[in-house]
Amino acid sequence: MQQTITHAAAIAVRQQQAAVMVVGYFYAVDLGDHVRPQHHRVGINAECTCALRCSCPAVDAVRAYLTDGGKRAERPPYGFYPVRPAKCPICHAKTATAKSLSSCNRGEGWTCPSGTSHYWQHRATISSMRQKLSVQGKIV
Ligand SMILES: [Zn+2]
Ligand SMILES: [Zn+2]
Repeated sequence: MQQTITHAAAIAVRQQQAAVMVVGYFYAVDLGDHVRPQHHRVGINAECTCALRCSCPAVDAVRAYLTDGGKRAERPPYGFYPVRPAKCPICHAKTATAKSLSSCNRGEGWTCPSGTSHYWQHRATISSMRQKLSVQGKIV
């Protein structure tokens, strides 16, 4: 057992041990067995699903991984949100998860400072866009 490890060395070890893997629409991040919780899931909205959200070190690990040319997570089908968008597409304010709006067709529901109105406005835009695309035979 190494007992004489310095603080600086410990940080270097920590960065080296962050392993990022693409799992469907998410990045699975392993921060090493000295970090609790060890396993994190970062969405394509650059937020971790753990309580630390965008300030989680796993988000930095994903950024470093992508800068290094790592494989990107799968893009979800048009209009499907595996995680809520980081910002409201209408007013660009921060969103909050709304479990009551989540569904398996739409993905994770969210609200913004307007309440649920921008959410439904955005869903209506998606629906009309989908209709146009299906008329043109672009999506089924
Ligand atoms: Zn996390
Ligand atoms: Zn909004």
